[in-house]
Amino acid sequence: MGVTTMSQIHELPEALANQIAAGEVVERPASVIKELVENSIDAGASQIDIRVADAGLRLMEVADNGAGIEPDDVPAAFKRHATSKIATTRDLFAIHSLGFRGEALASIAAVADVTIETATSEGVGTTAHLTGGQIVDAHQQAFRQGTTIAVHNLFYNTPARLKYVKSQATELSHITDIVNRLALGHPDIAMTLRSGDKLLLRTAGNGDLQQTIAGIYGVATAKAMLAFSGEDLDFKVSGYVSLPDTTRATRTHMTLLLNGRYFKNFNLAKAVIAGYGSKLMVGRYPLAVVNITIDPQLVDVNVHPTKQELRISKEPALAKLIEQTIYARMADQNLIPDALHNL
Ligand code: ADP
Ligand code: MG
Repeated sequence: MGVTTMSQIHELPEALANQIAAGEVVERPASVIKELVENSIDAGASQIDIRVADAGLRLMEVADNGAGIEPDDVPAAFKRHATSKIATTRDLFAIHSLGFRGEALASIAAVADVTIETATSEGVGTTAHLTGGQIVDAHQQAFRQGTTIAVHNLFYNTPARLKYVKSQATELSHITDIVNRLALGHPDIAMTLRSGDKLLLRTAGNGDLQQTIAGIYGVATAKAMLAFSGEDLDFKVSGYVSLPDTTRATRTHMTLLLNGRYFKNFNLAKAVIAGYGSKLMVGRYPLAVVNITIDPQLVDVNVHPTKQELRISKEPALAKLIEQTIYARMADQNLIPDALHNL
């Protein structure tokens, strides 16, 4: 091959760049639900209603009564790296919202058809349709305050990703799982989840964590859980843990929340288990909801596009606090089944 002076490197068209970025953010239907519900939470909603059809592959709809989006801002909401939540580098080091990367809506619109209806107050609102990431129709339309986003035919234009999607039962269980955890992180928000006509979840939204747990795991299980709380100079931890006789075969029923954000962390989950001392049977895991409150400056949320991994400074101290707080609470209990009746 001869030497060529022609430039071989070119910037990708926006639609293609968004589709590539979408690969990281939108792994499966549940990822879409997570991003949309997090946006509703950030918008200050007190009610969030979620509907899916065919495990989200045909339709996912999230309706909230939050702040809404101004008509002029609707196109920007679907641009990559466009966000109302942070503005400066300094903001990045003290994230108070669930979102901040400004890529979710652009990513979702790159791999599905999207309809948005939104209004910042009762009355004049905006409706827009997007296909291939582009707005094909936008007009003003009366709407209640809040935002409804409907996502149709996920992955219709990314056949490789569609192939990777598991059975509808599996995808639906991922959706239920993430909605449960988002609900546990926000007992002050009334949430519903429907699959077709079937109501899968309804939370009261009255701020009571134990009632939210009841909505997910059932009243009897929630009542039999123990409240705990503890703090040191950097962290506050609180929540509910099951007694050692109420366990599951997997770790998935432990939910860690940091400043209301659900995240995954092996060491902190281990600390919860360690809090039971030798009281758990081998291979059995407790039910737990652990709320951690921390100065946002002590945690780096910008580790992964899905924001489910966090870097926490002084993580070992936090693990110790969780273990000791739960251990002390278990020691309080004489763990006689009759003790349950006093709860
Ligand atoms: P991010 O959440 O990281 O800012 P997104 O792509 O998820 O990025 O959303 C882009 C912007 O669209 C948000 O910053 C917000 O201003 C607006 N937005 C998205 N969803 C909603 C909603 N349900 N209610 C109000 N505003 C929303
Ligand atoms: Mg977002």
